[in-house]
Amino acid sequence: MPKFRPPRKSAARAWIPLALGLAFCPGALARQRPVVPSPSRADPEKPLRQAVYGGHDLAGVREYDALIAAGHQPSAEASYLAGWAYCSLHWPEKARPLMRLAQDADYSPRGDREAPEEVLSKIDEYERAKPPAAQVPGLDRALIDPYSDSADESEARILAALPRFAEVGRAIFGNPPPVRFFLFAEEPASLSFSQALSFKPVEKSHTTGVVNMVHICAARIRRKDEDDVVALALHETTHAWLASYLRAKYDRSVRLPTYIDEGLAGYVSTLAAPPQRVAEREKRVMEERRERVREWLAQHPGPTEFDELVSYRDFHSDRNSLNYAMAALLAARMLGPVEAGAPKIPALLDALALSRDHEAAWRRITGKDVREEYRALAAEL
Ligand SMILES: [Zn+2]
Repeated sequence: MPKFRPPRKSAARAWIPLALGLAFCPGALARQRPVVPSPSRADPEKPLRQAVYGGHDLAGVREYDALIAAGHQPSAEASYLAGWAYCSLHWPEKARPLMRLAQDADYSPRGDREAPEEVLSKIDEYERAKPPAAQVPGLDRALIDPYSDSADESEARILAALPRFAEVGRAIFGNPPPVRFFLFAEEPASLSFSQALSFKPVEKSHTTGVVNMVHICAARIRRKDEDDVVALALHETTHAWLASYLRAKYDRSVRLPTYIDEGLAGYVSTLAAPPQRVAEREKRVMEERRERVREWLAQHPGPTEFDELVSYRDFHSDRNSLNYAMAALLAARMLGPVEAGAPKIPALLDALALSRDHEAAWRRITGKDVREEYRALAAEL
């Protein structure tokens, strides 16, 4: 989703706006930088600047904390940059006091970056739009921290499913990255929230999962089948876990090919069903996906080329619905039945982050050639 933009000094930190149902997908790869050198007495803020300008938001906020712990009085620039890092991590609440310090010192950022006042007004907007904390019996808030503006049946069902989501997160990650879960009933409030998190005009509210945060507008995911609504909420939560896992572990932009991001989210979403019904639901959902692909192929020439599933733009073409179905079918083909296959996801993410080559990452984790498997999948349908 569009969000607080990072400081523009770093070209490596271009962000791609996200559309409905899509995870955070940083556009350009930030080269992993060497570990920040220990602060020199002459310029103790250098590691902080290097971290934030290099796209290492977590390192940036840690450096800031370290300065404070060492009794250093941070400059306005340091406070501003740490504030930016918190905004990028979707923690506007934590950015606020730092942006205030920058504002109080009349800090004006170089280039055309937003002034502290502008950032603070966005944070105020965010606070106004943010729904109240929700109480969900049986849910560990340390894993999924829910906020909701409605007690309607459909939203209540999504909230009631969160303890199951937490279980799914544990099954996949062991220790799933914590996420905040913002649930809006209707479009207007959800749109205000999206706008607050963006410096660009936003036409429609987001339903998305990004670093540290899930944002769902229930009005946008209403379906006839209530199980599908809950599955979509888990789909978005999966996007948030993928992005948050990579951020926590690598603290840089790791670009997930869109077919992997969407494929894994679709694959994991079948786990939304209670454990005793997962196998049955998986079978039904997979058959629906195959059916959707067959219907599409009956009216159009051939499936999408594999290479066109990689980039965000190509994936979200007029073949959108075909591509979502194919991505989820492909993920299932690569990883196998979901209960046994989903726990391989962290290793796949690690292989992707380290090799920067999605085909090699699949080979390493599954022993399979993803391009070949895609061809075979398309031929079978
Ligand atoms: Zn998605």
